[in-house]
Amino acid sequence: MTDFNNLKTAFSDKSDTDLNRAYLLFKSMSNRFVSKILIGLVQFSLKLHLPIKSIIKATVYKHFCGGETIEKSQTTIDKLWQSHIGTILDFSAEGKESANDFNIALEQILASIKKAAVSDSIPFSVFKPTGLCKFSILEKINNNSPLSADEEIEKKEYEARVNVICKLAFDKNIAVFIDAEESWIQDAIDSIAEEMMEKYNKQKVLIYNTVQLYRKDRLDYLNSFLRRAENNYFVGVKLVRGAYHEQEIARARANNYACPVHTIKANTDTNYNTALELCIKNIECVAVCAGTHNEESAQLLTKLLEEHNLNKNDERIYFSQLLGMSDHISYNLSKSNYNVSKYVPYGPVRDVLPYLIRRAEENTSIAGQMGRELSNILAEKQRRKSA
Ligand SMILES: Cc1cc2nc3c(=O)[nH]c(=O)nc-3n(C[C@H](O)[C@H](O)[C@H](O)COP(=O)(O)OP(=O)(O)OC[C@H]3O[C@@H](n4cnc5c(N)ncnc54)[C@H](O)[C@@H]3O)c2cc1C
Repeated sequence: MTDFNNLKTAFSDKSDTDLNRAYLLFKSMSNRFVSKILIGLVQFSLKLHLPIKSIIKATVYKHFCGGETIEKSQTTIDKLWQSHIGTILDFSAEGKESANDFNIALEQILASIKKAAVSDSIPFSVFKPTGLCKFSILEKINNNSPLSADEEIEKKEYEARVNVICKLAFDKNIAVFIDAEESWIQDAIDSIAEEMMEKYNKQKVLIYNTVQLYRKDRLDYLNSFLRRAENNYFVGVKLVRGAYHEQEIARARANNYACPVHTIKANTDTNYNTALELCIKNIECVAVCAGTHNEESAQLLTKLLEEHNLNKNDERIYFSQLLGMSDHISYNLSKSNYNVSKYVPYGPVRDVLPYLIRRAEENTSIAGQMGRELSNILAEKQRRKSA
């Protein structure tokens, strides 16, 4: 068992100032009312072009992001690597809808792969399909709805962007994660992800799809996905619980269809842990990344490695968390020789704002997680005081 309570290790690269900043951040996010007011104020001030960029940059951005560019994220990359934690550079400009924006995102993703190819500290790259294609087009592809002539062109451009990324990842021998999104565009994402795996995962896993275990149908999907790949290509899978829980429930309710996600947390947890077991059982043809801040699931994976006589640092098995969250898991796992990486979001402050707002909202809604972050920070502050 890895001891996640070793806070000295968890916060080894955090100064007292870092800790105080983190405390204030998590404290304000933990209060739903304060958090809502702050988010509203930030959005309002940015709309009015008030000069608050520097305040955001020195606070929430500094905690959760690497920097405005890949180069400016180097300090974060180096700092994580001192604790043997890899970086996954995540260009986090969200909510963009023009071809120009998609091409900018493409350039950034390609640059992150090239950077990874010359850096031991960057084990993976990542992209979000909605960063490369309009949501409405992904939705139509998902539903097999007819596309106009212009939309057909946009679809082809999107497929070409995905292929360029996966081809470069293949040429540079760098693995790439394809993030999962809302269920009503996920079939479209799954089908291109599987197509890329079939093309580029013949010798080893370079392309990973993401499976969201809050969905009721995902264990069946994972099983059928493994069967489709059998004897044909290697399967890469990033397992997550899922980030769009409230939206999934609200949409199902509004449109009167069966809710696709579990509404009892324990069911999501059971699904997640079963998926971990399934991947390790099939490790001969699977590579898995556990994208989670859940201690029980992280602990279970360490146990599964032991039971299956797998090395802690087996290159097919990774743990991953987001920068600024659950350092007690990342740093303690890494110290125990497991493979660990962190998503490091980067990009212009204004563009990364939707990501930061999601972090704030997520941390407000996950009472348990928030309590754990806060109590860890407080305990470490106390430990330092008495030391
Ligand atoms: C490295 C990494 C990569 C990620 N990539 C993606 C991605 O590509 N796509 C994506 O969607 N998300 C992604 N996420 C986010 C992830 O899906 C979760 O939202 C987040 O990590 C919280 O879940 P957890 O496993 O850490 O555990 P916990 O904090 O234990 O679980 C919280 C999660 O449980 C689920 N949940 C909450 N309440 C209920 C309920 N009442 N009933 C049922 N289920 C509930 C929700 O999924 C919620 O996010 C990623 C996370 C990480 C760390």
